[in-house]
Formats: sequence, C-alpha cells, structure tokens
Amino acid sequence: MADILHVSPHQVLNSNHELSMGFDWSVNPYRGCSHGCHYCYARDTHRYLNLDIGRDFSKKLFVKDHFSDVLKKNLRHVPLNDVITLGTATDPYQPLESKYRVTRSILEILIETGHAISITTKSPLILRDLDLLSVLGQRKQLQVHISLISLDAQVIKILEPGAPNANRRIKTMAELLHHGVPTAWFLAPILPFITDDDETLESIFSQARSLNVRWLMASVGHFTPSVYHYFFQTMAQTPLRSRLKQFAEVYHKPGYKIDPAYRIKLRRRLAQFYLRYGIASSTESPQGFESIRQTEFSFVTTESQCSSPDPMSIQA
Ligand code: SF4
Repeated sequence: MADILHVSPHQVLNSNHELSMGFDWSVNPYRGCSHGCHYCYARDTHRYLNLDIGRDFSKKLFVKDHFSDVLKKNLRHVPLNDVITLGTATDPYQPLESKYRVTRSILEILIETGHAISITTKSPLILRDLDLLSVLGQRKQLQVHISLISLDAQVIKILEPGAPNANRRIKTMAELLHHGVPTAWFLAPILPFITDDDETLESIFSQARSLNVRWLMASVGHFTPSVYHYFFQTMAQTPLRSRLKQFAEVYHKPGYKIDPAYRIKLRRRLAQFYLRYGIASSTESPQGFESIRQTEFSFVTTESQCSSPDPMSIQA
C-alpha cells in the first residue's frame, strides 16, 4: 500500500524552453509513480522532498490539490502553439488517477483553452477518457505515446514491477487507434544489453506493424548518477544480473553518459527495423506543435517525416 500525501502548489506548469527538451511546458498531476520502473529518471525528483529514490518513489505518492484552478491561471500566459507535455515525471494514468481524476481535469481545461497536448503513459486507464481524447484528436491537438520496451513478461515484471503488462498496453494501443486517436509506440528507454537485442526489437516492430502503428519513437536509456546506481544495485538482485557487466561498459563515468559508439551502432540497427517494417520514427506535428523537435533516433522511413518530443525526457 502506498501513502497518499497532498500538496497545494501555486505553479503546476513547468517551463522547459531553456532546457531544449523537445517540448515547451510539462505538467505532472502527481509526484512519484506506483508503476515503479527501476530505470525511471524521475526517481531523482523524490530527493528534493527529502525522500529516497527507491521505495519512497513508488510508495509515497503526492496528489496536487486545486490543480485545475492553478492550471487555468498558469495557462493564461501560454501561447496556443506551445507544446504541453503530460507525463514527464509521473505516469498521468497511474492507479491514483482512477480516484483523483486530475489528469481528466487537465484534458477538460485544455479543450476549453484550445492548447495542444502530448501524453505518455503505460496505462489502459487512458481509455476512460476516450471522449475527451477524441475531441482533441479531431482538432489535431493531441499525440498519445504508449510506452512499452519489451514483450517479454518476465523482463517487464522485473523492470516495471507496478506497471500494466505488455498485453494490456498492446490492447490499449489497438483501442486508441480504433477510435482514431493519434497514437505512437514509445520504445524508451532501450536498455543496452538488457532490452536491445535483435529478438526484442524484432518482436516490437513486428507487433507495431500488425497493430498498424505508424510511429514508433525510440530512445536509449539515460541515467543520472544516482538513478544509475539505484538501477544497477536493484538489477544485481534479479535474473538480469548477468547482463550488467556489458550494460556498465557503455555508461562512462563520472557522468554515466552513453558511449557514442554504442549509440551510433544502435541507430544503424534501428534504421534497418524502421525500413523493414515501414514505420516512422517520429510523429506528425499536431496543430500548434510547431516547436516540436527531432527525436533521438529520427529517420526518413515513410511518407511522414516529422518530429516529436524528445523521448529521453518523457518517460512514463
Ligand atoms: S517510467 Fe513512467 S511509468 Fe515508469 S515509474 Fe517513471 S513515470 Fe512511472
């Protein structure tokens, strides 16, 4: 069971203009995330609350009260063509949302104000809001990303212990697409020597093709030093421990930046998959998303060569 705590922020919209993160504003209805993905870079945000980045991140969850009122005020100064991203530091459709409905209230407000939005999630709970998503989709003011990095049930259980399983996410994508909601497969983070093998990539691209997913956005895992250490120590206690030696070799200390040679090789391998399956590596720009930048691995693969938020910044 998680502890649910309440905060009353005066500001709920975070500007990312100076960070060049691929979107202009981010909005997060909650702090912490019960999906508890061990690689989640947002774990670091719990340190600012004097909480630990391990268990506390998924067991001490914060609900932001009076969210709608504050968001309405904050949005007054935001141009309509700025990109607002939902789900950069928490999954907006984690189980808390079924009770508190803060994410739903954000969609209602954005429909009212006319702002465009991108949403990243791992949860089928997003289907509850199909009525609102359809409105935003028809206006071309929406892009949904469903995050899924492996179809292997055991690997997912280890890496993302509290998240919905792969089948549920695939069904969610199918349902969203069936209802005409612009939906991309979010393959991030790719974890070197853990989820980057040909078999894993092949199964994902092949599944995406059979779902008729047009866009698949890929990005390699990025870690802060503290999340890297947490991740490494946690994985060392799991059946994935045998892959850690090679994993560690491509993250260079002290900053744990990914090895450039590894990145280039992965990029080339991914290019083959994009070509073979005829899937685009980035999304079309919804109306008002003029400033969306390129993904980490963007290729011209189909008729649609466009751009999207930087996936390394929008894990869900
Ligand atoms: S990666 Fe997304 S779903 Fe997983 S814990 Fe982080 S915010 Fe939650």
